[in-house]
Amino acid sequence: MLKKLTQVYHPTTIEEACKQLSQAKTAVIAGGTAEALKKDDTIETLVDITHIKELNHLSQDASTIKIGATTTVQDIYKSETLKGISGNFIKQVAGTVAATALRNTITAGGNLVAQLWWSDLPVAYLALDAEVVCRTGKPKRTVSVVQIINDTPAKFLKKGEIVAEILVPCYNKGTGCDFRKQIKTHHDYPTITVATRITLKNGMISEARIACNAVTSTPFRCQDAEKLLVGKKPTAENIAKAAEKAASSIKYREDFRASKEYKQEVFQVMVRRSLEASIEAAK
Ligand SMILES: Cc1cc2nc3c(=O)[nH]c(=O)nc-3n(C[C@H](O)[C@H](O)[C@H](O)COP(=O)(O)OP(=O)(O)OC[C@H]3O[C@@H](n4cnc5c(N)ncnc54)[C@H](O)[C@@H]3O)c2cc1C
Repeated sequence: MLKKLTQVYHPTTIEEACKQLSQAKTAVIAGGTAEALKKDDTIETLVDITHIKELNHLSQDASTIKIGATTTVQDIYKSETLKGISGNFIKQVAGTVAATALRNTITAGGNLVAQLWWSDLPVAYLALDAEVVCRTGKPKRTVSVVQIINDTPAKFLKKGEIVAEILVPCYNKGTGCDFRKQIKTHHDYPTITVATRITLKNGMISEARIACNAVTSTPFRCQDAEKLLVGKKPTAENIAKAAEKAASSIKYREDFRASKEYKQEVFQVMVRRSLEASIEAAK
């Protein structure tokens, strides 16, 4: 609960929002599904960015998918604009987020910045090498999603800066993606979330991405495991080695749902199966 909250602004431009956010004791609110639950007695002003038209868009051309920060996860899931390997992958992952009513509220930007262990889309963005456009009024910088996630979005963003857009590259034939999560019921928290992407060139793996969440406390890219695949043939042995490396190189988040030992064993199997599925799709 934001006990000290006294005012909420509803700016209609990015410039106006960033100016208000540069003041002390302010915070962004988008879908509000995480922000409204925060126990933060320092926040006195919220800046609601959902009235800024420039932030609510979803488009795709031959090379890039552009997702505006306030686009809801349901709009992504139900989009008829998103197509092809990346578009269908993003839609599939969006469809696994919470339930319909929540998806209608949760925004792409909020889902990225809140960075919780059950966050789904950031795992997909890591696998797809997405970029994030951050704005401080007119000035903008475009950064890789792995940088913003590794630095923790809330710390990475400067005072008065917001996430404006997520850019996802469109992959073509020769690339395959896979997303899977282990979850007891659709409405529970997941225990393991995995996303992989493989690009094949002349029968060899030219690019590999392995991303996870829920087993870890925040979305994470298993770069050491990815390195074991690049330049190699997509054989069962190489896939198994990469899965083993992924399972031995992460810091496990523990909770009452499953022990570290259980997660480690199942995570390794899920990475292996996910890589196999991505390779099959890439062929
Ligand atoms: C019951 C429940 C189940 C859920 N299940 C899932 C699930 O299965 N998978 C999943 O991925 N998510 C799930 N979520 C959503 C997730 O927990 C977060 O609540 C959500 O991603 C936050 O998005 P929001 O748009 O509501 O952001 P808000 O709550 O408005 O904001 C979240 C944080 O991001 C900041 N912020 C928001 N937008 C921006 C921006 N554009 N620039 C800079 N900072 C910004 C805010 O200041 C705040 O710190 C669930 C939520 C609930 C309540």
